[in-house]
Amino acid sequence: AETQLIEKEKFATLGRISGGIAHEIRNPLNAIKTSAYYLLNARSPSPAKHEEHLQRIDRQVTVIDSAVTALSDLARLPEPNATAVSIPDIVEAILRDKQLPRSIEVRKDFPTDLPGAWVDEKQLPIVLKNLIRNARDAMPDGGVLELAAQVDDQQVQVLVTDTGVGMTAEVVERLCEPFFSTKARGMGLGMAITMAILQKNHGTMQVDSTVGQGTRFTLSLPIGGDDR
Ligand code: ADP
Repeated sequence: AETQLIEKEKFATLGRISGGIAHEIRNPLNAIKTSAYYLLNARSPSPAKHEEHLQRIDRQVTVIDSAVTALSDLARLPEPNATAVSIPDIVEAILRDKQLPRSIEVRKDFPTDLPGAWVDEKQLPIVLKNLIRNARDAMPDGGVLELAAQVDDQQVQVLVTDTGVGMTAEVVERLCEPFFSTKARGMGLGMAITMAILQKNHGTMQVDSTVGQGTRFTLSLPIGGDDR
């Protein structure tokens, strides 16, 4: 597997974002239009049919609403307020919060003298949550999720490794593109938000992935001192 640095150039261009929004919104709009057409034109819709179409409209409006909300969250990401943040504490909080299936074995490897990372304490958890969620999704039949951290070259490195499905080079290339997803119900904004947060917090991300074997994300974050 080849290690690739996710560079700014690979991150959202306006055209790609627009294409993504158009795609994400057109499908639900079409469904709404079809149902509205039915309700307006059906000669004598049964109450059940009537109800079904109203429900569909309501559901599809919710889909559009969550796409727009996620996108405006991305656009209005607040300026980070950096403090020394404990990576193991964040990881513990996420694992407590988010039950992973039993088929996924979690391994943790954090040195006791790990310094804090100098990042926004509200934003970094979003990054780690997204990486852990994707690792879980990549291992539908179970596997090992390894969460580790170390100091390397004046940075705190955080490693999130799964033994899941892995990614092709094409998927790696488009990983952080807003609305890019290979999942049936994926919105494709998790990694775009992750990358936006990392950039604002002076962090970088590398990915190393092999189809059928798994994926490792390596974050490099500024060091925040010894007070954890
Ligand atoms: P979503 O999870 O909604 O699809 P993301 O932006 O979080 O959106 O991820 C984009 C795509 O990147 C996913 O659909 C998947 O194809 C790929 N991906 C991300 N993380 C992993 C991983 N750990 N293993 C395999 N594929 C991944």
